[in-house]
Amino acid sequence: MEPHIVIVGAGQAGLQAGETLRTAGYDGRLSVLGDEAHLPYHRPPLSKSWLAGEMSAQQLAMRAEAALARKNIVIRTSTLVVELDTARRMLRLADGAQLHYTGLLLATGATPRRLPCVQECEEAIHVLRTRDDAGAVSEGLKRCAAHGLPVVVVGGGFIGLEVAATARKLGLAVTVLESAPRLLSRVLAPVLSDWYAALHRAHGVELVLDARVAGVRPCGGHAVQVSLQGGQSYRAGLVLAGIGVRPNDALAEAAGIACEHGIVVDACGRTSAPDVYAAGDCTARRLEDGSLLRLESVQNAIEQGRAAAAGLLGRATPFTAVPWFWSDQYDRKLQIAGLSQGAQAWAVRGDMHSGGAFSVYHFRQGRLVAVDSINAAKEHLAARAVLALPVQPTQEQVGSPGFDLPAFARAAQSAAG
Ligand code: FAD
Repeated sequence: MEPHIVIVGAGQAGLQAGETLRTAGYDGRLSVLGDEAHLPYHRPPLSKSWLAGEMSAQQLAMRAEAALARKNIVIRTSTLVVELDTARRMLRLADGAQLHYTGLLLATGATPRRLPCVQECEEAIHVLRTRDDAGAVSEGLKRCAAHGLPVVVVGGGFIGLEVAATARKLGLAVTVLESAPRLLSRVLAPVLSDWYAALHRAHGVELVLDARVAGVRPCGGHAVQVSLQGGQSYRAGLVLAGIGVRPNDALAEAAGIACEHGIVVDACGRTSAPDVYAAGDCTARRLEDGSLLRLESVQNAIEQGRAAAAGLLGRATPFTAVPWFWSDQYDRKLQIAGLSQGAQAWAVRGDMHSGGAFSVYHFRQGRLVAVDSINAAKEHLAARAVLALPVQPTQEQVGSPGFDLPAFARAAQSAAG
């Protein structure tokens, strides 16, 4: 049978897998199917420079059409896959067409959670995942500026805080409502949460912690009213819900593939069905200790996309890279390397209080597990290298004023050969 690899989802992971297949020499039939109307584009700028109007559509696109054609990658846009039959190795599209595959990659991403609201408020309440969402948010921000209305962001996670920073940059009044007692509580140490709270307050954001939204209702003109369980309420011309995502695993789940809040994959991207791989935000990766790891990041999508492509070519290679992530808010770049969950001790190095560069080192059972750096690119690169090595600095070393992580990384790398 003629080989036919199908990739469902034309985002970060899907495009990466397609390109890796071609670079690795696969010259058979390849179909990349995406339900959006656009060719693959970068999502991170949607809350940052694209939303601020500082980026062209050409810059947002991941590849020019000509570059895709040179690699012999044809992307079918506006093509929704509605059913997967793993026994017949068949996909059904929304227009009823059927597509047979010999190898399949599910790279379907994730869908933002929405705030429950009454129909009359729908126009004012937004989520941000796609280029079309960003277009609607941008129009909403313009409406706020025109009518002198504030912006309310529900959720103090990365997307919410990035939108808050962009809206402040555009001169709008912004309130962030976060249900936890601190910002970014799932991903950052308390010391950095506090630092982010101070940063946003210094830029004029009204920050309300422990804030549970009770409802949103219209309040005349273009405005809505967001009320909290405690009784306070906030008027807004635009409400941005940054309250997390659900992995798009319904297609896989309906086909009987193992899913546990994400399509379960191993370190090579294999799912529980033969010749079906998954990559990116739609996955939950089974680790050696049996736990599941869900990451939503560009790096994870790229690395899993590569691993899945290798697997589809029969060259399965486990994906073990140190996780990394970034976020841009105002003039501060956060870079995270490693996973800080479960850390019991922290050490801060650098100038945390007067606008300089610094890093937070996280230790679990005495071992360095993650480094979060603010405006410290050199230190971040060294941290990524060190976290991948068997030898790591102790908390005492990190705590000593003369400690130089880049020098430590160089020495440890050469010792490791
Ligand atoms: P996606 O890029 O979402 O691609 C999945 C595609 O599959 C989508 O186009 C979807 O519509 C399509 N699809 C789904 N179901 C079907 C179907 N049945 N048929 C056909 N097509 C389908 N990460 C960082 O590391 N740093 C950042 O600063 C950062 N900022 C971000 C800012 C924003 C606003 C957003 C939304 C994300 C950000 N991320 C960031 C996360 C990062 O963009 C994602 O982790 C990454 O895009 C995941 O890639 P993916 O290929 O798994 O999913």
